[in-house]
Amino acid sequence: MKANLNAETKIVGVAGNPVQHSLSPIFQNYIIRKNKLNWVYLPFCVDVENFGSFIVGIKALDNIVGLNITVPFKEAVLPHCDELSDEAAQIKAVNTLLFKQGKIIGYNTDVSGILATLKDKLAISSLKGKNVVLIGAGGAAKAALYALYKLNSENVYIINRSLERAAILKRQFETNFKIVNVESFKDLDRLLLDVKPYLVINSTTIGLKGEKLPIDFRKLWKKTKIFDMVYNVAGTTPLVKEAHKSGLKGVDGLYMLVFQGAKSFSLWSGVQDFIVTDVFNYLKKKIKNG
Ligand code: NDP
Repeated sequence: MKANLNAETKIVGVAGNPVQHSLSPIFQNYIIRKNKLNWVYLPFCVDVENFGSFIVGIKALDNIVGLNITVPFKEAVLPHCDELSDEAAQIKAVNTLLFKQGKIIGYNTDVSGILATLKDKLAISSLKGKNVVLIGAGGAAKAALYALYKLNSENVYIINRSLERAAILKRQFETNFKIVNVESFKDLDRLLLDVKPYLVINSTTIGLKGEKLPIDFRKLWKKTKIFDMVYNVAGTTPLVKEAHKSGLKGVDGLYMLVFQGAKSFSLWSGVQDFIVTDVFNYLKKKIKNG
């Protein structure tokens, strides 16, 4: 069905660099059509140097409702926000903007996407007393740590290529709960063997282009569940494929992507009662059909 654009059409979209391969326009425009709104969701590839001017300019539009903010602007957007949600303030990263009465309100819906994935796809609603290994220390890792805190996680081990970045993350969150240690990639297999994690989260970009994490699945505890925040259009990720091959439960980041996007749409529109599974299935079908 074609969008019927006219003088009343309102704008939502995603700002990042690059955004050409973003799946958000596909499923957000589907949600818009389903809700019979005169809105359009557009990708905005923003020159890194000019992000500040972009925000000032887009705020001046009368018909802008909201934006998703993606790599590399999730932190750069903070000073442009007049208000922040609790999550966004804790994490110090924003992935959703709402333009309301001349103000910009920043939210982080990645946390909801992570919590929903753990609950709906891996049957995890508490991590009390469980060991967790978090691989990565970038923006996605921050949202993951906040979600782990919400699930009463106690023992979290962070693995990252750059130990310095992992140490900064540890300092940001250790007042909330116990982050046991920060270790390097070369210690990953030993750590997985020693701590028998109940949950392993990959929040690095490894897997985006088919690369594999250096994990020996034969040594992993059989109850370990895997959440790969990465998603790709070529089916599931190498990490999740390996997990399934070894008989472990595992899920990639596609459901998280849809859930965080649906949550953003709710913040923009006030509509709460649409079915995320329907949107997820629509996106999967679109990906399968190219
Ligand atoms: P960042 O750039 O902030 O962080 C990237 C992370 O990946 C860092 O930990 C970095 O390590 C690590 N990394 C990158 N390349 C390598 C490499 N070659 N070897 C080892 N480690 C590497 O990105 P984000 O945190 O924003 O995103 C990370 C991933 O999460 C992306 O794939 C993104 O698509 C996904 N994501 C998924 C979402 C979803 O809805 N499913 C939402 C948000 C993100 P170092 O610190 O050493 O550089």
